[in-house]
Amino acid sequence: MYNNHMLNLNTPLEKLTGIGPKLSEKLSSLNLHTCEELFYYFPRKFMDFRALTPITWAHLGEEGTFKGRLSEIKFERTKLKHMALVTAHLTDDTGSIKVIWFNQGYLAHVLRPNLPVTVYGKVEFRLREKVLSSPIIVKDEKIVPVYSESAGIFSRVFERIISQILPSADQITDWLPDNIKEKEDLIDLSEALRQIHAPSSFEAIAAAKERLAFDELFLIALSLIVTKQQYQKDAAFSINIDTEILKKFTSKLPFTLTPAQKKSAWEIIQDLAKSHPMNRLLEGDVGSGKTVVAALAALAVVKSGYQVAWLAPTEILANQHYQNITNLVAPFDIKVALVTGSIKHDHKTAEIAIGTHALIQENIHFPKLGLVIVDEQHRFGVAQRATLRAKHLKMPHLLSMTATPIPRTLALALYGDLDISLIDEMPAERQKIITKIVPPESRTKAYDFIRAQIASGRQCFVVCPLIDAGQSNASREKEQLDLFEAEKRTAVKEYDKLSKEIFPDLKIGLLHGRLKSKQKEAVMSAFVKGEINILVSTAVIEVGIDIPNATVMMIEGAERFGLAQLHQFRGRVGRGAHQSYCFLFTDSWSENTKIRLDAMTETSNGFALAERDLALRGPGELAGIRQSGLPDLKMASLTDIIMIRRARASAEMIIHAGLQNYPVLQARLQQFYQSRHLE
Ligand code: ADP
Ligand code: MG
Repeated sequence: MYNNHMLNLNTPLEKLTGIGPKLSEKLSSLNLHTCEELFYYFPRKFMDFRALTPITWAHLGEEGTFKGRLSEIKFERTKLKHMALVTAHLTDDTGSIKVIWFNQGYLAHVLRPNLPVTVYGKVEFRLREKVLSSPIIVKDEKIVPVYSESAGIFSRVFERIISQILPSADQITDWLPDNIKEKEDLIDLSEALRQIHAPSSFEAIAAAKERLAFDELFLIALSLIVTKQQYQKDAAFSINIDTEILKKFTSKLPFTLTPAQKKSAWEIIQDLAKSHPMNRLLEGDVGSGKTVVAALAALAVVKSGYQVAWLAPTEILANQHYQNITNLVAPFDIKVALVTGSIKHDHKTAEIAIGTHALIQENIHFPKLGLVIVDEQHRFGVAQRATLRAKHLKMPHLLSMTATPIPRTLALALYGDLDISLIDEMPAERQKIITKIVPPESRTKAYDFIRAQIASGRQCFVVCPLIDAGQSNASREKEQLDLFEAEKRTAVKEYDKLSKEIFPDLKIGLLHGRLKSKQKEAVMSAFVKGEINILVSTAVIEVGIDIPNATVMMIEGAERFGLAQLHQFRGRVGRGAHQSYCFLFTDSWSENTKIRLDAMTETSNGFALAERDLALRGPGELAGIRQSGLPDLKMASLTDIIMIRRARASAEMIIHAGLQNYPVLQARLQQFYQSRHLE
């Protein structure tokens, strides 16, 4: 038998009392192998077994701790499934309530009538009356942690095994510098870990949560700042800016740049002139005109004698960029090449090479690469960038573009290693997309409208949500793989309905995540060419694709999407000369749906919508967070703007004082990087 006093943080969990091979296997499936990892398996919530609720206040749907005496303890079997059912009455000075336990027949022998007992459970409506359903029998009147019951491990099992390792909490190195702890009034790490698993009070839980949440955001902030510093140590070609050429470029445009475009272009140009590589994210709503700003940067780089590689996420977008950019730089005698899976111009002599990932994958090296432009892919690592350049060449500048509106504070937490340029206004003459919420009874009218639009030569998008059966997040995650399948099913259903019942005379296309990328591209290009009238799609629909002839975006089950995502969909239309429309179909009349969908009809500003989304649904749903490469947060919340700022300020303080003066922290940061790479 292993002596628990000899525990240390690296002790494998199977050495603990009561953990056999089976349980330890389950734990490893949750990535829990050592004591230290177990310390970071935090409770989901806490039950307060000390605060008693008088039985007369037992309200339906609420959980509580009730203390009383049991009477009429009975054992029966349920009629339908023959389950063991123990029933009793619990009575205190204020009232009485029926208590039922399913599948715990032994309780009939354990429970004694008329003795005081404390139970914790939820008040539900069952067997035609108000009951306490399968409550826990409370032994210690204290605050008890509740753990997610993943991998079939019950919460009380977690509680039992974690309580064994708590004494070794003292061995955990507190890597957060004392001056930060003092300044931020944070408790010690070992104390925080002890309190989160065996709390002495709710105040102690709050202090523990604060410390642990701070840790997460602090490490992210620190790692981003360090990454940024590393970029700045690299050498890059300094681009000679020829302002005459840039003036000529803007004067040849059929429009004038918006002030936000000018400001962003200027920020980029200044970066390019420096001798260390630019790392800039150009953020601007769909249609705000990022391409022309990037083209201006490309022109500056080419005229200074260097090459530009321009990456698009799909072949269609690469084609589209190729055409746009060829037109934009036409007056300047520049060699533009297209490199995709199916087309290969000579990239070596190209001045601007536009392409898909074929550009990186096929080991293409540019002899004079000065700038990499990446469209709609937020994270483009140094390693990827390095593969593009010919050997011994300096690091190219990077301009990454995204149409995902990310609220400012979030951007700090997510992209703190990048400089950000914001195009926060639309070209003045851009027409507004008319957005309407369509209740079920107006569906036919909307279809008639679509028919009329198509009769006059326009095209239409139909986006379908994933219809789920309300699974929990945890089980949904397990079924990630099936998600595409489920999405596909709903889209196929919609496709069948539209092509067979509603618009049998029209040409309908179908796009979903289960199609091979070749098939997807074929459908998209048929739509671009106008061979398809209505395109039914799941949420996979291309970001950034330009189909000026499409004027209707119809979104089914609109309440299931985040505002930022709805806004992205809406941005697919209104890109041509024709008045465009966005129809939000919903059968939900919950207050929350109404508030959110009303926001869509009221504002066309993506940033305003993203802020509202953040407030209404939290950051998990916000488009763009997934791609940001942010690690999963266990304790911190991205809505906690104040905490994000505190963590950032502290990280800056450490960098300022010199990270090398904090070796323990430095080691922890190294470990953080390593765990990120394993993800
Ligand atoms: P996005 O930011 O979504 O990539 P694009 O760069 O594709 O947007 O621009 C959308 C459309 O707006 C293009 O047809 C582009 O020519 C046009 N455009 C860009 N800037 C302006 C401007 N300042 N005034 C008018 N139209 C503009
Ligand atoms: Mg674009």
